[in-house]
This record gives sequence, structure tokens and C-alpha cells, in this order.
Amino acid sequence: MIPFKNWKRRTKIIATLGPATESGEKIFSLIEKGVDIFRFNMSHGNPNWVREKVGIIQEFSKRLGKYVGLLLDTQGPAIRTGDLPDPMQLKPGDIFTFTVRGEKIEDLHSVSVNYDDIVNDIHVGDVVLVDNGNIQMKVISKEKNLLRCEVLTAGVMKSRRHINIPGVRINLPPLTKKDLNDIQLGIECGMDFFALSFVREANDCDLLRQILISKGSQGKVVAKIEDQLAVKNLSQIIDSSDAIMIARGDLGIECPFEELPIIQRRIVKSCIQKRKPVIVATHLLESMIMNPAPTRAEITDIANAVYEQADCIMLSGETASGKYPLECVYILDRVAVRTEKSGGAGYASLVELVNDEEKLAKIAVHLADDVGSPAICVFTRFGHLATLIAGLRPRYSIIYSFCPDEEVCRKLTLHYGVEPCLVVFPKSQEESIEMVEQHLKKKGIESGQKIVLISEIPLRGERDRYILLHQIH
Ligand code: PGA
Ligand code: MN
Repeated sequence: MIPFKNWKRRTKIIATLGPATESGEKIFSLIEKGVDIFRFNMSHGNPNWVREKVGIIQEFSKRLGKYVGLLLDTQGPAIRTGDLPDPMQLKPGDIFTFTVRGEKIEDLHSVSVNYDDIVNDIHVGDVVLVDNGNIQMKVISKEKNLLRCEVLTAGVMKSRRHINIPGVRINLPPLTKKDLNDIQLGIECGMDFFALSFVREANDCDLLRQILISKGSQGKVVAKIEDQLAVKNLSQIIDSSDAIMIARGDLGIECPFEELPIIQRRIVKSCIQKRKPVIVATHLLESMIMNPAPTRAEITDIANAVYEQADCIMLSGETASGKYPLECVYILDRVAVRTEKSGGAGYASLVELVNDEEKLAKIAVHLADDVGSPAICVFTRFGHLATLIAGLRPRYSIIYSFCPDEEVCRKLTLHYGVEPCLVVFPKSQEESIEMVEQHLKKKGIESGQKIVLISEIPLRGERDRYILLHQIH
């Protein structure tokens, strides 16, 4: 009996919090509808706002009895324009000036930029891509402290917009002063995941990890792959991070766009092969920022990420500032569930297993797949065994992870198919089975179904690990 009935989503959903979702009511509904992790985009939002929302999420997560992870996303070494008193309507042919080093000018249309070297990195005749490439301008002249441009495409210039210069290594530190302050805030708030924007090399991840460790945080390092340099150094970046985000918003501008699907597949495949969680981010439901229904292409894009068996899919503007945030989560859930049932790309078959624990995990997954088990139950102290099983992408099973540590439970929210459960470890195998049976019955697993149990906790003082095939009474 293959457990397709009551299929629960394996692919995790990350939602970015913003003005459209900041009310307690919305946050509650988002968790109820299936959000697994909330993302705080530090390019926006101030410390008090973040603290308040974290408190609300923690309260509702407890009330709903569902672990919810917290992700702080740094701004990173991104080029950003300064504040404008009002948005500026631009039309083709307008002259627009970017200023650096506090230069004051009289031009009708101008804004400051946080990156002084922009004047050296961009040349006369180059096209400047502003706000996700939505506003394009051509550089017509340069001075020491300014770039004068001609507007090519109509658009509205707002405050704090991002500028991309494809292929150029931006001469900003991997973590800016703002990032360091934001990371400190994230640590104080007990955030679980710290995303590093515009990672360029493995060292950037090491640096963030050192900061987290030195401040006593157990936060995980998420490297955002969003430019050509990161793609070039992909393998080392995956090795030195805890998880990868395919940040398609910037990646799609920084690389030739026809490369994007190929890069996405390569990253997902490498991450699964190296057993690192991977997030597919940005534009999954972009049209739903304004519209109540997705485009067919968006549905296919979601299904593709789920088919590739990414650990997480992520909403940005859709939930931060869109008109239909709850509907977006509903659609991700529906498309993911349907696609998961139909099967996946199977990149997990490429995983290389080295030690005994890994080999044991593989046998547990093999057994669960063979008997069509709806559940693999893992007793795991630090979450390692649960993530090992998740990395092997069981075909039919949710990975119920019994763990004695709340923080570990929250960190498991990032992993494919893992459902954490806080427990005091049982003292015998009999007690373990009893605990698992009770839990699974609450989760709708019926008597007669076969489940696989795997444990890394020593029983009766023994150091052996075991796998058990058990039929629910
Ligand atoms: P951002 O990163 O939303 O912080 O820019 C995600 C992306 O670029 O896709
Ligand atoms: Mn980005």
C-alpha cells in the first residue's frame, strides 16, 4: 500500500515578512497555511520591527505546536541608492545622475550611491541596471564624484534601489558595517539561519561562521549564490556553508539569462550530492504581487524546483509587499504536494556514503522506499541523523525527527521532509516504539502501516545504532 493518501508536503516554504504580512493575524495564518521559515530581509526593516515580529512568530509557533525557523538575510556588499524624499517618475531621454562621496548637485533627477568606486567600475557607454534591471540607463559622462546617465526605459525611481554591474567584482567588504549590526541583532533575536548576500568565495562563509561562533550563536550559514564569481567558486562555497540559496533575482541579472536554468540545476544537483540543503528563491510567484492567480509558467517553475527536490522554495515580494500573500503559500503547497507525489529527479542517488552512519541511513531509506513506508522515525540528538536521511530523499516517507533540543528542532525546519518533535529520549526500545506509535497516530498514520525506525541513541548503555521495521498496531 503506497501512502499517497494524506500526503504532506516535503518541500519547505520560506516566506519573507514585510508590510503585507506584519500583522499578528497574517503571521498566524501564514504559519497555519504551511510556512516553515520566516525570512527577514535586512535591506529593509529596522531592529525594533524585527524584534517585535520575532516575538509574535515565537508565540504563534508555540500556540500552533509547529516549529518555525527564523532567517536573517543580510544586505551584503550590494550597491544601493540612497533615500529619496519622493519616488521619481522617469521617462526615456531624461538625464539622471548618481553621486558618490556626499557630492551635492543641482540636477533635477539625482540620487546618492553607497559605493564610491561605481565611478571607476562603470564606463561611458555602459548600461546601468537599477531595481532588478527594471530601469535601464546609459552612462553619458563621468566626473570624479558622479555618473551622468540617459534614461533608456521608463520607470519609477524609489529609495534604496539595488544597482547591478554584471561581471564586476564590487570593492566592498563581504560583511559591511550594517551587516555586522544586523547579524548582532539576529543573534540577540535567536535567529536560526544567517544568509550571506553576494557571497564571492568560501572565505566569506568562514568569516560569518567565526562571528557566529565567537558570539555563542549556533546559527547556520546560508550562502546566497547571486553573481558570476559565486557560480565560479560554487564547489568551495557549498563546502564551507551550511546551506545554499539560489538567489535568482540577482543571479538572473548578473549572468546571461539563458544560463539561469542551467545554473539552477547545477547548484541543486551539487547541493544534493554534497548533502547540503538548497533553497530556490525569488520570482516563483512574482505576478501574484499584483494578481490573484499565478501564470502557467510560474506553476511550472515551482513544479520544476520541487521535481529537482530542492529543500525549500522561497517567497520574497509575494509575501513581503504583495496583495495575495496567503494565496501564494496555498499555491506553493498545492503545486508542491502534487509534484512530490509524482516523483522526483533522484539526484540523491549521486550521494557518496563514507562512514557507517551514512550507510545505515541509506539502508533505512532503502527499506522505507521498498515497503512504501509513510514514516521514517529518527531519534537524533543533534539532528545529524535526521539531516542524513533527508539528504537521501525518501520516496514516500516523512522523516519524523524525535529530538531533545528545541534549537535543533528549529534548525531542522530547513530540511526536506523533516518534521521535528521535541521529546525526552526513551530509555528502552519498547518505550521508543510506544512513543513513536502514539505520535504517528496523532499524525493520521493508520494501523497496519509499516514504519521504519532508526536511532543513534545508545540503549541500555550499548553504543549500537539500530534500524527497525515496525507495523503500527
Ligand atoms: P534579495 O536576494 O531579495 O536579497 O535580493 C534574493 C535574490 O537576489 O534573488
Ligand atoms: Mn539578491
